[in-house]
Amino acid sequence: MTNTENSEGSEVEQTLVLIKPDGLVKSLTGNIIDKLSESELIIVGAKVVEVSKDLAETHYRDLKGQKFFDDLIKYIRGEYHTRRVLAMVYHGENAITRVRHITGATNPEEANPISLRGKYGRITTSGVFENVVHASSCPEDAKREIQLWFAPHELSKTIHGTKKETITREEVVWE
Ligand code: UDP
Ligand code: MG
Repeated sequence: MTNTENSEGSEVEQTLVLIKPDGLVKSLTGNIIDKLSESELIIVGAKVVEVSKDLAETHYRDLKGQKFFDDLIKYIRGEYHTRRVLAMVYHGENAITRVRHITGATNPEEANPISLRGKYGRITTSGVFENVVHASSCPEDAKREIQLWFAPHELSKTIHGTKKETITREEVVWE
């Protein structure tokens, strides 16, 4: 039994969920979080992010070279909707598969009609899948994506290793 495995042999995982800019503009935050509660997972982190070019390109680095890559970067940065995404981390047994099941297939036309992408996604005339939500697809991606979008102190529970470091930097504080 590994330290993230429980007595039934299920893995306790964390997965990154993004409500993409189209999901926010369509006012779907409530619907998406409500549907994801069927997973019986817990949310251990949540924040609104204005996505930089660097963050977008690092997040989707494996898709660099695809013909839709430039449009995808514009899409996730909110150039077509609003410059925000809601980033969340869901935690619990088999979190990655459970969330992907509720999210549905990448192509909204092929997604189960009662999945989030099947219900709310669309394909634009330029061919981008505007599928309202991102969910990590495997443990390696989940770890990389959570570490890219969140610092350990922003999560109420962590399953990936952390260490202490003294960091000196300027921060904006309340006047
Ligand atoms: N995407 C697209 N066209 C494609 C494949 C992907 O527009 O033919 C977009 C879509 O928004 C998708 C994202 O690129 O969610 C990332 O693609 P990936 O294959 O990783 O799918 P996901 O893991 O999001 O299901
Ligand atoms: Mg993916």
